[in-house]
Amino acid sequence: MRLVVIGGVAAGLSAAARAKRLDPSMEVLVLEKGEHISYSACGLPYLLEGQVRDWLQLVGFTPERFLLEKNVSVRGGAEVAAIAHSRRQLTLLSGEKLHYDKLVIATGARARCPDTCLPLHTLADGVRLWEHLREAPPSRALVIGAGYIGLELAGALRARGWRVTLVDRNEHLLHREDPELTAILRRQLERHGVELMLAYDGPAPEAPLTVHATGLQPNTLLAESAGVELGHTGAIRVTEHMETNLPGIFAAGDCAETVHRVTGAPVWLPLGTTANKMGRIAGANAAGRRERFPGVVGASIVRVCGLGVALSGLSAAHARKAGFNPAAVRIRSRDRASYFRGRPVTVELVADKSTGRLLGGSVLGEYGVEGRVNVISTALQARMTVEDFLGLDLVYAPPYAPVMDSLLVAAQQLAKEL
Ligand code: FAD
Repeated sequence: MRLVVIGGVAAGLSAAARAKRLDPSMEVLVLEKGEHISYSACGLPYLLEGQVRDWLQLVGFTPERFLLEKNVSVRGGAEVAAIAHSRRQLTLLSGEKLHYDKLVIATGARARCPDTCLPLHTLADGVRLWEHLREAPPSRALVIGAGYIGLELAGALRARGWRVTLVDRNEHLLHREDPELTAILRRQLERHGVELMLAYDGPAPEAPLTVHATGLQPNTLLAESAGVELGHTGAIRVTEHMETNLPGIFAAGDCAETVHRVTGAPVWLPLGTTANKMGRIAGANAAGRRERFPGVVGASIVRVCGLGVALSGLSAAHARKAGFNPAAVRIRSRDRASYFRGRPVTVELVADKSTGRLLGGSVLGEYGVEGRVNVISTALQARMTVEDFLGLDLVYAPPYAPVMDSLLVAAQQLAKEL
């Protein structure tokens, strides 16, 4: 039995390693078209900023180490050009043909910008930009796209002394229709010297360095040409077992869609955390298990010029579009006891007026935002109401949290609203 995995980063390698661990008798082969495997694109902004000293630190495994430790062969520079599923055969760009019994497609996503632009998507993109920043003296940089990668990049370039302008067609930052959130982030960016051009539809201003962070699209061409169905989001449609419509072919990671656990609708949220988890499930099921991936609540976190911005679930605007009747509150509190260097934290919670069900929230602050947003995510997955949430037993000790956590302060306000 031979399992072939296409794509050698988060989803692909998680799938391959898990399949091999569960069924050591299976031959597992990973085909990766690029030169590098097993790297953290998530670390690229911190490489550019200078917090990570060398790009090699972002590489988890080389193919040699993956073989040694996981007993899985990985071939770099091996691009799959076609899948003939009726014959269970792959054709590589080199013309070589390979047989498979099971297949995991983990081809990721690609940057949505012209071929001539400089994106920040792959390790190669990051290294190219890193080398440029090491050679060129700081001058003016344009970052196009105000999603989380654009914001991280703008912060990184500012930290290196570049004059940065962040441009987006949209009026909102982080693509979250939330004017208050945009206002807070705008203040944070401007305080750190980032110029903003939002709702801008003109030609891109001239700058010595322009980086595109204009979004992604799922890498589905290969899958589609083999007869794999896509969903409404444009990514590969999979069941909760990561199966595609073709028996024996699984898909995972940025190339595949999943289910939003708050709305129940299919969603495409390409994130490394999700890619790893989907990959594990695809690998297990390719090895004969029947595990399920339950979907996501849309949890994400990003650092914006030192401010932690953690989001989960729906904004009020998104909730309204999804057919809920939302109420929302946003409060400012402290992350610890004020006499213990408590720093400001802003918490927003959104709930459905009709049922009291919690629908989403955000936490902004310098410290502790990850822990707090993870509580919100857990509550969303448990389909808690605001009343349930108010009953949570959350910790208190002056160096870590105030006696009444900011999450509970927000929930009390929201309960009054409801
Ligand atoms: P990819 O990592 O895109 O890997 C797919 C691989 O498939 C690629 O290497 C590609 O070369 C290969 N491939 C494609 N087609 C073929 C073919 N035909 N034949 C052979 N190989 C092929 N996520 C988070 O959760 N948190 C973060 O903080 C975060 N920060 C990020 C910061 C940046 C700058 C970037 C770019 C991404 C960040 N992400 C983050 C997202 C995360 O990196 C991705 O979601 C994750 O890498 C997706 O993994 P994947 O395996 O699905 O796809």
